[in-house]
Amino acid sequence: MTTAPTTTSPTTATVAHWVDGRPYPGTSTRSGEVFDPATGEVARRVAHASADDVEAAVASARAAFPAWRAASLARRTQVLFAFRELLAARREELAAILTAEHGKVLSDALGEVARGLEVVEFACGIAHLLKGSTSENVSTGVDVSSVRQPLGPVAIISPFNFPAMVPMWFFPIAIAAGNTVVLKPSEKDPSASLWMAERLAEAGLPAGVFNVVQGEKTAVDALLTHPDIKAVSFVGSTPVARYVYETATSHGKRVQALGGAKNHMVVLPDADLDLAADAAVNAGYGSAGERCMAISALVVVEPVADELVAKIAERTGSLRVGDGRRGCDMGPLITRAHRDRVAGYIDAGREAGAEVVVDGRGVEPDGAAEGFWLGPTLLDRVTPGMSVYTDEIFGPVLSVVRVGSYEEALEIINANPYGNGTAIFTNDGGAARRFGSEVEVGMVGINVPIPVPVGYHSFGGWKNSLFGDTHAYGPDGVHFFTRTKAITTRWLDPSHGGINLGFPQHS
Ligand code: NAD
Repeated sequence: MTTAPTTTSPTTATVAHWVDGRPYPGTSTRSGEVFDPATGEVARRVAHASADDVEAAVASARAAFPAWRAASLARRTQVLFAFRELLAARREELAAILTAEHGKVLSDALGEVARGLEVVEFACGIAHLLKGSTSENVSTGVDVSSVRQPLGPVAIISPFNFPAMVPMWFFPIAIAAGNTVVLKPSEKDPSASLWMAERLAEAGLPAGVFNVVQGEKTAVDALLTHPDIKAVSFVGSTPVARYVYETATSHGKRVQALGGAKNHMVVLPDADLDLAADAAVNAGYGSAGERCMAISALVVVEPVADELVAKIAERTGSLRVGDGRRGCDMGPLITRAHRDRVAGYIDAGREAGAEVVVDGRGVEPDGAAEGFWLGPTLLDRVTPGMSVYTDEIFGPVLSVVRVGSYEEALEIINANPYGNGTAIFTNDGGAARRFGSEVEVGMVGINVPIPVPVGYHSFGGWKNSLFGDTHAYGPDGVHFFTRTKAITTRWLDPSHGGINLGFPQHS
């Protein structure tokens, strides 16, 4: 591929990298296709970085680190305030890029930008969280203070489903804390990363503090093993998250690797079934089910399953599936291959004994015939042994699992290898409280189907949904992107003279 790389204009032939404060064509001759999922057409290509391209980005981040680390906290946060203003004022531009490459409808894309903005705003106030602590006079005339310092160049590797928000879970905090960044976005929807790089530069971020390398495994592997990369924040599927965690930790880096999910929503018989049906539809089919916090399994405690299934089926009939630029409710899936894989679960479910209540393959989309369409799909009488239950489908397929009691529901969730998000719908405060305490999942909603924590809490799952012990953004994010140093101080006066080789003791 020899087309000249440029940045993000719609007519761009190849999406480039971003190194040292400007677009960087790279040395690799490899590139990949980027689709418009609503038309099925190849809209542009994206460069695939070589190890040399990654080297150039890391060298830029390494060179920028000493000055950025030395920049005052006031200056660092001023850049983020300016970025925040640009992002807020031009959010529709970014949302349009998300819809064009990911396919999610415009209103959903705007929601993605808003949730990223939340973390930028959190990072603007980082000064408060970077304050260390001091203990005075721990021994006579001796003080101890702990300070938080940046790590150096850090890598962020993000998935296709939130091309703006997931990078923003990490880079605002990393940058505010004084680190420099190399972002490797998903090769499926790469343009948002360059738009953000341009806005950061416009906001006054010095060249080299934020770099982007486009590509796939070659670029990821070069980052995971590079001696100058001090930390890796990864979000993606569980097998890759595990690989990233194992590889990068064995190369001496601190790592947070957020993986896949299978999120359950429990409905107790006392719940308001209309509210529960609305929530299941929103959380199951929003963004075509391509959210790591999407509800995938509805665990319904009898005797209300028939009624709830009927209410959900009725609601699916009113959803408009189509091009995200046309005011529809649900857009296409990310690629044809993924659409076909998800559609394959409908027959797999039926063959395993599930009842196909709504089959999304019959959908009539408001969009081009070649788009990657699959309508809302509802499977009933799914059991935990079926592949539709065990696999992360990552599409608009809701599976109803009927159970006899709260205990049975809890047992199913806690036996599941994933533990990202979950929700319970009930009007029984005692049951909800018990669920919050007993369920082995990192993020829990009580009558809230997608409990993504706000920017000043932290986001993360348990079990196979997170490798490492530090969640994303919020206080955990500040912890991840800084290391603590303890400084013990004594200003000598004549009373401290004399030789004493014994271990220091307090006096
Ligand atoms: P993915 O794992 O295929 O890709 C994620 C990133 O890893 C991309 O940048 C990709 O280029 C890179 N990659 C892919 N295969 C690789 C390999 N073999 N070696 C090295 N790097 C590789 O994930 P995806 O399909 O882009 O995103 C969907 C997945 O992400 C789902 O499983 C979803 O649950 C998960 N996700 C999780 C969260 C969370 O917070 N836990 C959030 C969003 C998405």
